[in-house]
Amino acid sequence: MAKCDTSAKLIWQIAIPVPLERLFDYWPPEHYPLNSIQPGMRVTVPFGKSHKVGVVMRVMKASDSSVDLNRLKHVAQVLDTEPLLSTKDLQLLHWASRYYHHAIGEVIATAFPVALRQGKPAVLQRENCYGLTKLGRNTEPAQLKRAPKQQALLAVFQNSQQTFELADIAEHKAALKSLLEKGLLIEQPRQTVDTDRLEKPVGLVANPEQLHAIDSVISSLHRFSVSLLQGVTGSGKTEVYMQVISEALQYNLQVLVLLPEITLTPQLEQRFRQRFNVPMVCFHSKFNDSQRLHAWLSLQQGSASIMLGTRSALFTPMQRPGLIILDEEHDSSFKQQEGFRFSARDVAIARAKMLNIPVLLGSATPSLESLFNVTRQRYQLLELSSRAGNAIEPVFQILDIRNKPLQDGLSEPLITEIQTTLARGQQALLFLNRRGYAPVQICHGCGWVSRCGRCDANMVIHASERRLRCHHCGAEQSLPKQCPACKTGELQPLGLGTERIEQTLTVLFPGKNLIRLDRDTTQRKGALEAYLEQINSGHADIILGTQMLAKGHHFPDVTLVAILDVDSGLFSVDFHAGEKLAQMIVQVAGRAGRANNRGRVVLQTRQPQHPLLTTLIDKGYRAFAESALQERKLAGLPPYSHQALLRTHASDAQAPQAFLQAVCQLLQQNKNDKTLVLGPVSAPMARRAGQFRFQLLLQSAHRKDLHHLLDLVLPQVVKLKEAKKVRWSLDIDPVDL
Ligand code: ADP
Ligand code: ZN
Ligand code: ZN
Repeated sequence: MAKCDTSAKLIWQIAIPVPLERLFDYWPPEHYPLNSIQPGMRVTVPFGKSHKVGVVMRVMKASDSSVDLNRLKHVAQVLDTEPLLSTKDLQLLHWASRYYHHAIGEVIATAFPVALRQGKPAVLQRENCYGLTKLGRNTEPAQLKRAPKQQALLAVFQNSQQTFELADIAEHKAALKSLLEKGLLIEQPRQTVDTDRLEKPVGLVANPEQLHAIDSVISSLHRFSVSLLQGVTGSGKTEVYMQVISEALQYNLQVLVLLPEITLTPQLEQRFRQRFNVPMVCFHSKFNDSQRLHAWLSLQQGSASIMLGTRSALFTPMQRPGLIILDEEHDSSFKQQEGFRFSARDVAIARAKMLNIPVLLGSATPSLESLFNVTRQRYQLLELSSRAGNAIEPVFQILDIRNKPLQDGLSEPLITEIQTTLARGQQALLFLNRRGYAPVQICHGCGWVSRCGRCDANMVIHASERRLRCHHCGAEQSLPKQCPACKTGELQPLGLGTERIEQTLTVLFPGKNLIRLDRDTTQRKGALEAYLEQINSGHADIILGTQMLAKGHHFPDVTLVAILDVDSGLFSVDFHAGEKLAQMIVQVAGRAGRANNRGRVVLQTRQPQHPLLTTLIDKGYRAFAESALQERKLAGLPPYSHQALLRTHASDAQAPQAFLQAVCQLLQQNKNDKTLVLGPVSAPMARRAGQFRFQLLLQSAHRKDLHHLLDLVLPQVVKLKEAKKVRWSLDIDPVDL
């Protein structure tokens, strides 16, 4: 190879999706025009034995590279002619990489849909639309009476005086083709936003609280602010979102709306489509790669004004950023639980700050963090205190089941309540957060229990499939017919799952329509939607389900909600449990009595005096939150401190602990008395899928002390010889301990 003076030349620093906290230096491709490259453009580069798609982060003088220039390789190909990520996008991703201490290349990859990660071209397939030609406007539809379908379609165009997308008129494809051939219709690029007709007419007049909320968000449209909109289900939060969005659209701004669950998007999408006349896209994991590419590019290039998506939509670049809305902000699905463990809520706020735009968080049960931020005047609280329209709040009842006979978890008074409800022709909803038939099988003869061989957990009985299944590692086997230990004892189910309650209900309420909603019954594609439809059209008497029921679905005819087992949520090692239980109770209760019937919410408990329950029910969610925050403050727990959890696992029983002990030593050496080191201890489930699990918790009163320590220690942790024997990950602001 000929040597030349390389120091005056430029090299590119590239983010590559590998778990290393660094960028990689490359020479530009041979003969690449020097000024054409910009940060945010994708390239392919030789990496190890293969090629990878990376993103150019920086162009710099070769003499500034810390790598031996003679060993640098050339970029193989430049994939984009323009940056896909703006400077602001890159700035956010940089920040997220530092904040979560996660490799920059992997963080950047998260921002892209799969197709772009794979190096597919960033070309937006524009969908065309169809409109009348001059000839079409002047032709009497009756002239086409020999072709009635064409006649009808022409009339539709003439009467509506608007253009249609193919999707709108897909069922008239043949007629469309003929009208195009006759020159009555023309295919044209989709219209850009028509600012005179952004919103379709609606009849809702905001009530005073809504008006206050709307005005307050609108007044900060062009600057950063965080508003927390608290209102029970049905209080009109979505209406507030829509009126605020409508204002943003007047300024031709784009709006990103995030939801915790895919299953909630169709409802909201439908309401938005009815309301807004602007291009809108959805982005979530049920979409295939090309649909997601289309949605992503539509927002990035500015052709869509609204994106509705789940957590993964958060990083989508916006051409004209205007507003970010997060609905159900308390929901833990906003936190990614593997790989790059970011909180979509927290990053959304960081993003809005960088973009200088407002964020609107909504929930009936705001997270303690967000309420804490309200008290610190970082967020503005906007309240909707009553239900919009004419629906009224449900009545709560604590049902003390101590010493009461239970029929598979159902007390007599509850059974009577269900009967009365059904007799009135109304629906009852029963909640139990445990799927399967029974959480464990036990031998009455010798006490054998159905443990999972690979986890510290029991295998759950799934009676209809006659199987035992571990819900943690997926292991399964057929239901034993005789006790594997003593061979003679009688095997019995212990405890309750939704499948077992379903069986009991079928016996108690013969002839009634019962729908069970849990992960087992809704696995099939479209099953959940079909059940929801069945419930909403009144073809269900009893609805039984798991936490799926707590997630925003509207069941207007439900007037009785029963939470069968409150107690199992009251005693947990995780300090988040109380908050989650309270949210769950209020959320499930929110499903009741939405239309004209007042709802009742019954909580079966053996702890009727438990302060969590009494506070929540007598004084409401906010009072609960205040007392829970008080407890956290006394205990020095988040949000009054900041945590990072180092998790590790290995198939070797000793390795995880040895690794964490080595980490502790490093922490000692970088001594920082502002950070508490708790552990190493075994994880709440010490063994899962054959892996031994340990964890170490770091906690500081000030975020910067914690991050400073991590910055010092992590580069050394990576190099530990003990690290090679385990897998480990760091979780900043963990929500699951
Ligand atoms: P949330 O999002 O808080 O559950 P929604 O915005 O969906 O509440 O409102 C609940 C119901 O009340 C909807 O049917 C909605 O159309 C209606 N609604 C909302 N705001 C008003 C209002 N100002 N006047 C009359 N009805 C309203
Ligand atoms: Zn036995
Ligand atoms: Zn298991």
